[in-house]
Amino acid sequence: MDNRRTWGGRHFSPGELGVADGGLAPDSWERYEALTVHTLDPIRDAIGRPVTIISGERRESKARDSKHMPPSERATDREVSAAADIQVRAHRGRDRIQPLTLALLIADMAYRGALRVGGIGVYAPRPATKAQGFVHVDDRTPRNGVHAVWARGYSAKGNDRVVAMVRAALREGTT
Ligand SMILES: [Zn+2]
Repeated sequence: MDNRRTWGGRHFSPGELGVADGGLAPDSWERYEALTVHTLDPIRDAIGRPVTIISGERRESKARDSKHMPPSERATDREVSAAADIQVRAHRGRDRIQPLTLALLIADMAYRGALRVGGIGVYAPRPATKAQGFVHVDDRTPRNGVHAVWARGYSAKGNDRVVAMVRAALREGTT
């Protein structure tokens, strides 16, 4: 962790958000600080228990315009944005939080203006491998007010249903 600069995030450190072997790239510091302050910290505060970063910054990606990547290394999207894949594990006798539940909470918070988010991806648990699934969040600017929402790993209909639920929560909240 680079201690020469101040970091505005409260619950997450540059080390957690950077690649395993060296932390955040110098020009990724600000985009990940912004994601932490405006997106990840509010989620952590709302949940009231640890949120695990599965993946933050990446220096290579199969997705050409991945928001995990530094803007300068994406194929076309140069907008400054950042992404994290997160999950909430079992903790002190409390169950894990399922990806869909977490995604709906995030969408509801976005509806209420309690955080900044432009993309939400819901990745299903895989019981066979005990992988509990995760949620991708990024702070891209929604195009014409429309968020990027996707789901992976459910059935084909399940993916569509999950996307529809998250979109409804973004539009109307969950209560
Ligand atoms: Zn992601």
